[in-house]
Amino acid sequence: MRKKDMTGSIKNTMKLVLPSLSVNESMARAAVAAFCSQLDPASTELADIKCAVSEAVTNCTVHAYRDRVGLIYITVSLSSDGYAKIEIRDRGCGIEDVKQALQPLYTTDAESERSGLGFTVMESFCDKVKVRSKMGVGTTVTLIKRFGGRKTDA
Ligand code: ATP
Ligand code: MG
Repeated sequence: MRKKDMTGSIKNTMKLVLPSLSVNESMARAAVAAFCSQLDPASTELADIKCAVSEAVTNCTVHAYRDRVGLIYITVSLSSDGYAKIEIRDRGCGIEDVKQALQPLYTTDAESERSGLGFTVMESFCDKVKVRSKMGVGTTVTLIKRFGGRKTDA
């Protein structure tokens, strides 16, 4: 079985800090995808990572900073064995029960017609998703994905 975590040495890193404005969601996903491109990912792998980043960044805008604009801190590390580790951190309201939040279809925002599938999407498009959160302090979502390379393109 393929390992799900990054163990190789870090070969490059980047940091990006953006206000939680919805217009910045496309910037965040494009910037992360552009940086990850140096691992020579398949186009499908790049689409997966864009989708997962979008979900995590949108959660910062709509949940973490629901009544204000705050900062979203994104860190990307690329390893020599083809892994990308993407950390998306906010200093927003925090998640009371992370285990419950990770359940498919769980949402605290049903009035806005949210479907409660953001974390499920992240988990299906990445090798591993970790969530750390503290009420009143904020949340860090870590996405780990290994890129098999363009040879996996159809
Ligand atoms: P969807 O993503 O389908 O639009 P959703 O955002 O409610 O709906 P998830 O992304 O799976 O679904 O998140 C589940 C729940 O976890 C959210 O409803 C919210 O209560 C909580 N949550 C997620 N991310 C954060 C965050 N960064 N800060 C605070 N709460 C969060
Ligand atoms: Mg969501």
